[in-house]
Amino acid sequence: MEISHQDLILINANIITLDPFSPQATWVAIKNDKIITTGHGKDWKNFKYKNTSIIDCSGKTVIPGFIDAHLHLVSYAKSLVTSDLSPGKNVHSISDIQSIIKNCSQNRPAGQWIFGRGYNDFYLAEKRHPNCLDLDKATPGHPVRLTHRSGHVHVLNSLALKLVGITRETGDPDGGLIERDLKTGDPTGLLYEMGDFLYVRIPPLAPAELERGLQIADQELISLGVTSIQDASSRNNTEQWKLVKSWKKSGSLHPRVNLMMGISAFQKKSENYALNGLDPNQLRLGAVKIILDDTTGRLYPSQSELNAIVFEVHHAGQQIAIHALEEKAVKAACEAIQFALEKSPAKDHRHHIEHCSVCPPELARKIGALGITVVTQPAFIYFHGERYLETVPDERLKHLYPIKTLLDQGINVAASSDCPIVSPDPLIGISAAMHRLSEAGDIVGGRVRILSTAALQMYTLNAARATFEETIKGTITPGKLADLVVLNADPTRLTADEFRNLQVDKTIIGGKVVWEKNR
Ligand SMILES: [Zn+2]
Repeated sequence: MEISHQDLILINANIITLDPFSPQATWVAIKNDKIITTGHGKDWKNFKYKNTSIIDCSGKTVIPGFIDAHLHLVSYAKSLVTSDLSPGKNVHSISDIQSIIKNCSQNRPAGQWIFGRGYNDFYLAEKRHPNCLDLDKATPGHPVRLTHRSGHVHVLNSLALKLVGITRETGDPDGGLIERDLKTGDPTGLLYEMGDFLYVRIPPLAPAELERGLQIADQELISLGVTSIQDASSRNNTEQWKLVKSWKKSGSLHPRVNLMMGISAFQKKSENYALNGLDPNQLRLGAVKIILDDTTGRLYPSQSELNAIVFEVHHAGQQIAIHALEEKAVKAACEAIQFALEKSPAKDHRHHIEHCSVCPPELARKIGALGITVVTQPAFIYFHGERYLETVPDERLKHLYPIKTLLDQGINVAASSDCPIVSPDPLIGISAAMHRLSEAGDIVGGRVRILSTAALQMYTLNAARATFEETIKGTITPGKLADLVVLNADPTRLTADEFRNLQVDKTIIGGKVVWEKNR
């Protein structure tokens, strides 16, 4: 066998391969960026050469690297360099928000934008969203934009409203809603589903700031054992592709990336995605992403428009990924995929429903029968559990993020964080999928447990299947990419309480240790 300095063997490990043909091992040998073999006992010595590095895992657990099947990388990077207004940062009232904005305004020239993110009206003492008058009190001289923790609501102060051109006369854009004062008709500053509208009207973050955010995001992801991500931003286009490609090329972004393409980019045939010498295992073009919104009470786009779009993508031989939260939207997404499949049958289409937040068993059966992949967010049970328990009626609560129901239908359920909506920590999602406990320790939607291996698969093999990459990722199998995580304990043997102490010890991508605890 040819000797290479990149050869690495992990020994004395409790290896959970997630490969049904060989589920356990005590060592794994890696050559270049691939796994060459796994085994038990001392056999690894046959693979050891002069230049082989050995990592003694001292009984620690090794699992396949985590794949986050749906997050928003650029928003995540931006969020790390803008004011965090989430309850976790001790923001408990609108006056807390006002003082943070005021502080921000003091060290920057008038007229410069101030961005805040992650506020959660549910946890604010006033139990409401801040409005433009609240923000004007903090600073009238700087345009301010706050983003709700859901990402679907923004609040602007008066100057910001003026700069983006929203006045009393401005009509609601398609799919969006400008909240207005019932008496005066003036905009209150609250904008629903107007991310696209604002995106083209608000100056972007300075490149150096974005780069700084990306560096923090990258370190955060690898410290959590995330070795691959799928970026599910509906605004993705050639620009985003070039940006991510530049990060991959310069080596500033470690996890492998699947970049979904926004529907408008897909429909603009001029869009041009070229790999130009980049390894497709580092950056790949993923599904076509479309938002099916029902927050304003009616579906946008409508069922017939959705059918046409889904068919267009399906007919072009591409995967579609439909954002659908509520039952009505999930049902419409199913119907659109069914429509496309009836017109043009395809066996292994792997079209996605993203989120699938509310899904009763009969709808899950339909999703299963149509062969649709579901990409969902178990960590929401943990991070949003208290709010769900207080605000979601029991009838819907039992169908909320119904992971077991979906798995029981044989659906390929891939897990994700939807970061920056919540932390990208897969261990929190895995625990939430298994135990359904909120952050305060309350059970959300009944104790419908799933096995730890099923939860691990959602963040590994199932997520790899979601992007047609199960032959190269998702299990510790000879021939696959050597993307591995070393954990300080065995997640299949822990109680919900013990799970809190579970930590990533090392992250290996393509046979290289990219992160180590207490280096
Ligand atoms: Zn998302």
